[in-house]
Amino acid sequence: MKDRTIVVTGGSSGIGLATVRAALGEGARVALCARGADRLSRVADDLEGEFGADRVLARAFSVLEPRANAEFAAEVAERFGGCDALVTNAGQGRVSTHADTTDDDWREELELKFFSQLHPIRAFEAQLRGSGHGSITAVNSLLAYQPEPHMVCTSAARAGVQSLLKSLATELAPRIRVNSILLGLVDSQQWQRRFEAREDQGQTREDWFADLARRKAIPLGRLGRAEEAARALVFLASPAASYITGARLEISGGVSRFI
Ligand code: NDP
Repeated sequence: MKDRTIVVTGGSSGIGLATVRAALGEGARVALCARGADRLSRVADDLEGEFGADRVLARAFSVLEPRANAEFAAEVAERFGGCDALVTNAGQGRVSTHADTTDDDWREELELKFFSQLHPIRAFEAQLRGSGHGSITAVNSLLAYQPEPHMVCTSAARAGVQSLLKSLATELAPRIRVNSILLGLVDSQQWQRRFEAREDQGQTREDWFADLARRKAIPLGRLGRAEEAARALVFLASPAASYITGARLEISGGVSRFI
């Protein structure tokens, strides 16, 4: 990724932050965004100290705001001369069954899953076309293929997103490659929040996560680490994946049951 510019949405935490760090470690310039300005600013200060201020651009906004995405893209073009790789990672899952998901919940979830892809992609499409080796790599979930009743709207939305990405891989070829990673369970802020809300507040973090891995029957026996997802994202975003488009890569410790 040396001398390339990668844009990571949701780059202030978890998988996004690990991707930012991995790309900077490989010599890339990185632009990242997230909604929470305080955390983003702390993260940006750390990254600038470690990797140099000339390679980091951080902006606070929601990817659900089209104008903010466009302004961010303009800044990336001005500062770094354009974007070579876009990683659409921002978001979170929604835990709810059919019975406890209202119509408004459905609309909110569908908007988050689709427009967290569509708005950044629209904003950066021209730059990616101009790159000569443009790529979009989306963070998605195994729920797209293996839905869970307790995450009913997230699962349905994620299946739709895979369909969208497949269409884009054709429409945007040959200038832009479009791929996705399918996550199982990866330890991040999302899981930290669920751990903090655990029923048995006496259970240690180690025991809670070990128990979760057992209940989910993850063949590798543990949750993934953010860095493990990041390595796959950086690979798919890089010229090393130059003949890969319309593909999906599972990062799940083997937990999927489909072939
Ligand atoms: P984290 O909560 O650790 O990180 C999420 C990041 O996205 C944060 O930087 C957050 O910052 C940012 N973000 C969330 N919503 C928006 C928004 N609307 N606009 C801009 N930034 C946003 O979670 P993960 O690292 O686990 O999640 C990364 C992605 O992976 C998510 O899309 C998630 O759904 C997906 N995923 C994760 C799985 C897992 O097991 N960890 C499993 C399946 C999918 P801020 O809140 O300040 O905006």
